[in-house]
Amino acid sequence: MAAIAVAPRFVSPPPAVNPLPATLSLREAVSQVSDSSRNLLGLMALTNAAERDLSSGSSETTLDGVISKSVLRSLLGALHYRDLRTLRHSRRVALLAVGLASHLGWEGRHLRVLEVAALLHDVGKIGVPDNVLYKPGKLGVDEIELMDLHHGIGINVLQACRVDPEVLRIVDQAHRAYDAKESTERLIRDVHIGARILAVADAYESLCTEQVYRVAKPHEEIMNLLTAESGKQFDGNVVNSLARWVQQDGLPFAAQTTDLHNTSRHREFVSLEEDAEAMALCQIFSYLYMLESLYDGFHVVDSERRFVVWGRGAERLFGRPASSVLGQEWCADFFDMSPPAPVAGSEAQELSSLENAIACGKSVVFQRTFQKADRPAIQLELQTVPLIDAQGRLHGVAEIFSNLSRNSKAPEFKQLKLKASRDALTSVANRGELEIQLKLLADQFQENPDDPFCVIFADADHFKRVNDTYGHQVGDQVLIDLAKHLCEETYSGEIVGRYGGEEFLVLCPSTELEQAVRRADRLRTSLQNAKIGGTERLKITCSFGVSQMEPGDTIEMVLRRADQALYAAKEGGRDRTCSMASVQVHAEDSEASRPKKEKIPFEFTGSFLAVLGSEMVVHKLAGFVKDHEALIVDVTRERVVLRLRGSGLLSYFGSSPDRQGIEVELLMEGVGRATGQDRMCIDVRMSPFGWFRDATCFAERARNVMMELKQHFFAE
Ligand code: GH3
Ligand code: MG
Ligand code: MG
Repeated sequence: MAAIAVAPRFVSPPPAVNPLPATLSLREAVSQVSDSSRNLLGLMALTNAAERDLSSGSSETTLDGVISKSVLRSLLGALHYRDLRTLRHSRRVALLAVGLASHLGWEGRHLRVLEVAALLHDVGKIGVPDNVLYKPGKLGVDEIELMDLHHGIGINVLQACRVDPEVLRIVDQAHRAYDAKESTERLIRDVHIGARILAVADAYESLCTEQVYRVAKPHEEIMNLLTAESGKQFDGNVVNSLARWVQQDGLPFAAQTTDLHNTSRHREFVSLEEDAEAMALCQIFSYLYMLESLYDGFHVVDSERRFVVWGRGAERLFGRPASSVLGQEWCADFFDMSPPAPVAGSEAQELSSLENAIACGKSVVFQRTFQKADRPAIQLELQTVPLIDAQGRLHGVAEIFSNLSRNSKAPEFKQLKLKASRDALTSVANRGELEIQLKLLADQFQENPDDPFCVIFADADHFKRVNDTYGHQVGDQVLIDLAKHLCEETYSGEIVGRYGGEEFLVLCPSTELEQAVRRADRLRTSLQNAKIGGTERLKITCSFGVSQMEPGDTIEMVLRRADQALYAAKEGGRDRTCSMASVQVHAEDSEASRPKKEKIPFEFTGSFLAVLGSEMVVHKLAGFVKDHEALIVDVTRERVVLRLRGSGLLSYFGSSPDRQGIEVELLMEGVGRATGQDRMCIDVRMSPFGWFRDATCFAERARNVMMELKQHFFAE
């Protein structure tokens, strides 16, 4: 990539530099400026808030001066918003680490430092894209590399949040320890004892919790694993202490269940304001992920030019540890770099890159040579971004480096990471990411066709009216809220993405069509109580189309079927779920003698809640059978199969939907008060019956039957 030296447009007068950083809320920061500098500005907003709280020195605003309480709350709120599993993990690691440290005789502020380090040791995961963070299986080698970028992001954010330097050391070293890439000798001798405790607590908690790809291990087995690694990855003394502690006080978390599937992300009593803040933070983390993955390093100085963030990349590039840089004042010769490449005809050539960027009020790019006495020269591309808010106040400057001398980051790896990014508006997976995920799922399906996956299209109903009535800004808010709602209501492992416009796609690994239809319909009904449209609190409904990957399918075919089902749902009156199964029959079925399955060109599924007890359902069903002169094919306690004849034998019926014979399967499940079963959840599946087959007639008849069923059963 050729470097562009941007000639500064003006040099004087420079914008006023505030001696004290103006207060800027996170939300303001992220919404004010439209380019990528807004995310760095958001990071500075955290710094400002932290500084305000920490400088007051009161126990109201800080945890023993280790971290600002409001900042800690914001970070944990964002972690909750993005990944509840990681939040739970972090809390349990904190319990374990603090318990272990107390057992070792730790007291007071030291415990607090360790607790904060443990709570925030994985905070950088907020920035990791969905396909890696929520992957429902073990990560591949590349994916582990993508996941591990969270360590750097976490450190960047903790630095910006002005946490106690000891917290930084512990988190940084614990990750390096667990990475086990560093010399194990060094690990034991030089590593902060807090980091050694955190590494053991982290490993123990992960192993004793069920993961998507493996079951929870029992205590004895974990201790054997930890002991085997003692003196290598883990500190033997800490492992022994853990064993003694458990012997003395019993198993940690014995009273708690580790419910893997309960990933509901509802936070109680969360205001819209807090939600917006969590979302703004997620955007900042995503941006940092992008920086970590695509560039070789960056640093940030505040408005007084003191270093606020000095990431691992900068440490590597310039050979200076963060501890020796943070808080220092930036100066032109700090970096041992060549003077800026002269820009013809500009007074700016005498200025440093930083001063240049401040002077011209926008980001500038330079090429520079960095030369350290004992190292070969490095050619750097330097992008300097002044962090100026909408009022023109300078909050700091960021410098982002690319090492042009070393082409270490292979282009395809960059590509992978770029594509892995999320939708800018809603923060869910973007279309590129969805495509990568679909491809992965399809490949897995090729290997194991017994493990199908499903796709769910969700499309906002009459969304154009929202834009027309309330304006695009509210429309955007609706999309953001819809995306968030879908994320909250889906299970861990499912991937939510924005397919385009007001259309979302949910990928459900290891799911059969029937199950996926129920999932979709639950998404649909849960929208009734969702908070959508910010303060407008709009009633928004969505239509859903569902399909399942079947043998012989391409990705396009699965998507097309889901799209057709969605169309049927729209045609059927919206706010409903339809599915479509393929007509595929295994031609390659080796047992040629086996009778071929009847083709089912269309299928209609849906469900509703009948406000009736089980007795009344039977009664009402009898009425329905009588009205339609239906044939009862099968009946058990939970399942009834009926056939409704087509009436198309007479020519004057033409192509009326009533020509289409239909088979209706009802699956009933009592819900409501455990004993009384005052409500029945009724799943309906319809397929064509008889010789006459017409897609349009079928869809319409199925819809009508569904409507009648609902009327009969007083559906809610
Ligand atoms: P239907 O129930 O048939 O889906 O009706 P609809 O109005 O939702 O569908 P249609 O496809 O006619 O209109 C979609 C609208 O979505 C049109 C477009 O302006 C709007 N839209 C697409 N992307 C965005 C966006 O990012 N923000 C906002 N505010 N509106 C968007
Ligand atoms: Mg729509
Ligand atoms: Mg649409």
